[in-house]
Amino acid sequence: MQMVDSLAARDTTGVLSKHKIQRRECRSNDVYINVLFCGICHSDLHQIRAEWSIPHYYPMVPGHEIVGVVEKVGKDVSKFKIGEKVGVGVFVDSCRSCSSCKRGEENYCLGCEGKEDRMCGTYNCCLKDNNNEILYGGYSASITVDENYVLRIPDNLPLDKAAPLLCAGITMFSPLNFFGCLEHGAGMQVGIQGFGGLGHMGVKLAVAMGCAVTVLSRSASKAGEAEALGAKFLLSSDADQMAKHENHFDLIISTISGDYAISNFFSLLKVAGKYCLVGLPPNGIHFPTAFDLVVGRKSLVGSCIGGIRETQAMLDFCSDHNIAADIELISAKDVNHAMVDLAANRSMARRYVIDIAKTLNDETPVEGDDRIDPRDWKVHEKATIIPKEANAHANLQK
Ligand SMILES: [Zn+2]
Ligand SMILES: [Zn+2]
Repeated sequence: MQMVDSLAARDTTGVLSKHKIQRRECRSNDVYINVLFCGICHSDLHQIRAEWSIPHYYPMVPGHEIVGVVEKVGKDVSKFKIGEKVGVGVFVDSCRSCSSCKRGEENYCLGCEGKEDRMCGTYNCCLKDNNNEILYGGYSASITVDENYVLRIPDNLPLDKAAPLLCAGITMFSPLNFFGCLEHGAGMQVGIQGFGGLGHMGVKLAVAMGCAVTVLSRSASKAGEAEALGAKFLLSSDADQMAKHENHFDLIISTISGDYAISNFFSLLKVAGKYCLVGLPPNGIHFPTAFDLVVGRKSLVGSCIGGIRETQAMLDFCSDHNIAADIELISAKDVNHAMVDLAANRSMARRYVIDIAKTLNDETPVEGDDRIDPRDWKVHEKATIIPKEANAHANLQK
């Protein structure tokens, strides 16, 4: 066991402060990774504040856009060597024997007999083995992960800018790939709705696939950034612009994670066009009427990250096309400010990435430090909190 520093939320206020956690020693198939950088995903914010209808384990160490270097390997590890640059994304285990896992779509794991739990999240989750190890994410100095759930980071990708590819990148790559953009790029009209961390990655990937890309946003201020990445811009609050884009798109991917009415957007799809959700608004969405879909054989679908094989393919695609995320690198001590920005949707077309290796140190505020501003973050009324006693076996130490 190794005791290492992390940034943990102690309760549903979501306030993060320094906290010691244990990392398991390498089992035979594990790699032990020194974390260099970790991206901040909107789902980190949702989970530290217990906004989803899933169990929440506290203290919670978020982070599933992890890049680091292998420091140790278990005796049977064959895929990675000490010193290699690696990444860990949204999940660290799955049942490995259901039809989804066999197809390499561990992200859609169905569970199997004796292992009913499905894809095992990198954090806010419990490893389904004899130890019931509570899992902590990448806002920490190190992480131990089974080699089958670790990705290789190609040499030409800058490590800080590669971190967001592990969630934001694959979240956008997978539906683009599934709906034919990689294969038929030049023939596809693609809309990317919302232009934050996910949206800007979607634009970069779809442009590299050769698609004609349009950003749909209510903020006119984002037009310049969208155009700089090679996309057109559609101001979705402008009725004239919306009318001009009727019957225009083969695929619209919505990255919006707040509440909004999606009905207005179906008229923008061509016949047999697809409207794909990748954001997870906590309060759901307002569904279209049957007419919106039936007339024109249109589809409303969702997509959730990607499997390990597809995630590696995405990283290799990014390497071939020199694509990485646009980021703002922050110190561990500034993580709460970044979360407040994210909650207020003030973040622009970039991802916050925490410089873990250089800045998670003695300067990082601990719980109760008066440098952390108290904030009144509302707790989701349906929050499911796992009582602290249930975490006792995790041998947590303050
Ligand atoms: Zn994420
Ligand atoms: Zn499975």
